[in-house]
Amino acid sequence: MDTVLITGANRGIGLAFARQYAADGWRVIATCRQPEAAADLAAIAGQVEVHPLDVTDEEQIAALAAGLVGTGLDILVNNAGINLPNRAMDGPTMADWNRLLAVNVTAPMLVTRALLPNLLAGRQKKAVFISSRMGSIGGNTSGGSHAYRASKAGLNAAAHSLALDCSPQGLLVVALHPGWVRTDMGGERADLTADDSVAGMRQVVDSLTPAMSGGFYNHDGAEIPW
Ligand code: NAP
Repeated sequence: MDTVLITGANRGIGLAFARQYAADGWRVIATCRQPEAAADLAAIAGQVEVHPLDVTDEEQIAALAAGLVGTGLDILVNNAGINLPNRAMDGPTMADWNRLLAVNVTAPMLVTRALLPNLLAGRQKKAVFISSRMGSIGGNTSGGSHAYRASKAGLNAAAHSLALDCSPQGLLVVALHPGWVRTDMGGERADLTADDSVAGMRQVVDSLTPAMSGGFYNHDGAEIPW
């Protein structure tokens, strides 16, 4: 049975990943900050187990990895992410910047490092980073959102390096833009449902090749400029 681990799986895009992989018969290791409050995860039929994980908590990362020793992971979806309520350039404080970078860049890299033995023991060996087109420097023609853009650009840079470092071990790495998605973060006016976004991203992950590894792709498979 294929196994996927998803961070921030209690709502939005992460919940849609959990639902779709479970519906396809996968073993889903769903992580979230408050498993006891994750009613939507508990309602999913199939093989879904819920583990506590605040992705910025190193002790929880270590505890998760310790509990999964010997478990192969086919896919790790680093999905948990935040944006700032005030996106103006003069809004965020030093603490806002640090929090955003911790959740969006540092945490996914440390989670992936902790679970690397599990990924390398898996059949598919795929590390997925949910990034954003907002992290594209070449595609930025509108400005704004300095901290969020910097966080996703930083995530892309780190994911690309991970792909180069771990390609000899067979790890495949991809940074994905989910599109503008109707979630708490994306808002009601967004283009895509979480289900449609995730269906597209799963296809990209499914067709990931060594030649694509380290790249940055849209949910429809189109490459996005750095
Ligand atoms: P969302 O609806 O706001 O959900 C965010 C998820 O991340 C929630 O499950 C949240 O958990 C979790 N999370 C936040 N901080 C966390 C932490 N410290 N530890 C563990 N989990 C944490 O956002 P979304 O739209 O589904 O976004 C998912 C990913 O897609 C993010 O990386 C985001 O940057 C990216 N993205 C979204 C869009 C869009 O249009 N929606 C576009 C581009 C990229 P809690 O419930 O505990 O807060």
